[in-house]
Amino acid sequence: MTDLKRRRFLQLGTAALLASGCTTLSDAGKNTAKTRKFHVAIVGGGYAGASTARYLKEIDPAIQVTLIEYDKVYATAPASNWVIGGLKPFPSILAKYRKLEKLGVRVIHDWVTAVDVAGKNLRFEDGSRLGYDRLVLAPGIAMDWQAIEGYDEKTAQTLPHGWIPGLQTQALSRQLKEMRRGGVYLLSRPEGDISCPQAFYERASLVANYLAEHNRAGKLLLLDVHADSALRAHFEALWENLFGFGKQRSVVELIAGRDARLRRVDAVSRVVFTGAIEERHRADIVNVVPPQKAGALAQAAGLVDASGWCPVHPASGESTLVEGIHVVGDAANSGLARHAGCANQLAALCARSIVQIASEEPQQEQAIRIVDTVDSLLTPDEGLSRTRSYQLRNGVFVHEEGDDVDGVSHGKREAERARRSWQQLRQQIWG
Ligand SMILES: Cc1cc2nc3c(=O)[nH]c(=O)nc-3n(C[C@H](O)[C@H](O)[C@H](O)COP(=O)(O)OP(=O)(O)OC[C@H]3O[C@@H](n4cnc5c(N)ncnc54)[C@H](O)[C@@H]3O)c2cc1C
Repeated sequence: MTDLKRRRFLQLGTAALLASGCTTLSDAGKNTAKTRKFHVAIVGGGYAGASTARYLKEIDPAIQVTLIEYDKVYATAPASNWVIGGLKPFPSILAKYRKLEKLGVRVIHDWVTAVDVAGKNLRFEDGSRLGYDRLVLAPGIAMDWQAIEGYDEKTAQTLPHGWIPGLQTQALSRQLKEMRRGGVYLLSRPEGDISCPQAFYERASLVANYLAEHNRAGKLLLLDVHADSALRAHFEALWENLFGFGKQRSVVELIAGRDARLRRVDAVSRVVFTGAIEERHRADIVNVVPPQKAGALAQAAGLVDASGWCPVHPASGESTLVEGIHVVGDAANSGLARHAGCANQLAALCARSIVQIASEEPQQEQAIRIVDTVDSLLTPDEGLSRTRSYQLRNGVFVHEEGDDVDGVSHGKREAERARRSWQQLRQQIWG
């Protein structure tokens, strides 16, 4: 790729970002002398890490890219609620790394235990090391196991949270199917930032939908520490029609605000204590979503601030705490939402920035606007789409209320859109 061609391409990448919620970078070039020996290591093969690997190779195939992901098969969190609600089999949300390998990405399945920032290398469980010129961390979220008395990593094996998809997703799906007639499914939302809050209300909807179809005497008890939630209000309006929400015999019961604050969990008796006076809630299924923070490796590498997340320069994903390391996806505090679409778009900006660094081009400040839509299912025929747009202003992504693309819509079309958009993004990243 000539320098002129790459410059045009990088601008096209930005134009794609400006124009759509889903970046497509399809114009691949040829090797350049400057970037051929440049090695980028990426830890984490989820939406953010796998997207970064793909964009790097598509922008400049000469760059050496190694993607380190622990799991041989990745389970997508988007659509994992559909598995829990019995709308999809678990294997259908799995993705492999063959397409990335075909693009020339070296994929290593291993666990990275540490980053040697000064020595520019990664350490693996067996003590071996991997050097890099530039590092991208995309480790996703970690649970804050100190936050809830009686609920820790071990307890989560019997009372799964299912917020990191995998065995716990399957366990919740099974538990819902096997729940006794008239049983209670308790789902609780924590304080603080979590990955995709909209998915919390999608899960509530799909559990309610399952109960309405298969276990009419059953109940969903929703505990939400957020007294007023604009996001929840959109779902509540739809639950009224779908599940008689607000009426006495509705399948959905909501406790919101301070009374929903989790005090402790008794895993043996499946009792959850909430609020100042420790009200008791006994449930057949206890689905506690714990408070969250950046993945363990980001914490160990000193990339996390007091918020528990990694502050980054949003136009590149580079850490503001440690030079030369980029953090993308859920672990990053970029001003964007913790959504798969945002992870994908921050990855495009990160890849663009790294190519500029590798080829010793000046970093170009450009106007960036990101449009992000999350599509959720409430039932197989009722979807909810919520679109927000972000502008990069003075080095920070800000969501501008009232932007012309912002909005919420629902209906059958949105249900179809949810299925399509999940499939498209998955296909785009993993094939
Ligand atoms: C239930 C649920 C539903 C959701 N639905 C939607 C939706 O409909 N739409 C939407 O836009 N967003 C949705 N999201 C949010 C979306 O899933 C996340 O924003 C997205 O997965 C973030 O991508 P990531 O790459 O940062 O992290 P992840 O996808 O979590 O990937 C991180 C990867 O890093 C690997 N890893 C971590 N540490 C190491 C290490 N030390 N060594 C090796 N590998 C490591 C992990 O194995 C993992 O595969 C949902 C989230 C949840 C929980």
